[in-house]
Amino acid sequence: MTVETRYRVIVRCPNCGEKYILRGRNNEKGELETGFKQCVCGNETNLRIDVTPE
Ligand SMILES: [Zn+2]
Repeated sequence: MTVETRYRVIVRCPNCGEKYILRGRNNEKGELETGFKQCVCGNETNLRIDVTPE
């Protein structure tokens, strides 16, 4: 019995300036899942992430 909350996730890459708008939701562990892996420039650690409930 879970209420599924969806989130709008905005990921910005300060390295190359790319911006991604994704949909996310919490998985069984309560972690936010977006499917985002890395930026096109290869950056996967230095990211600015904004999460807003929909
Ligand atoms: Zn980038």
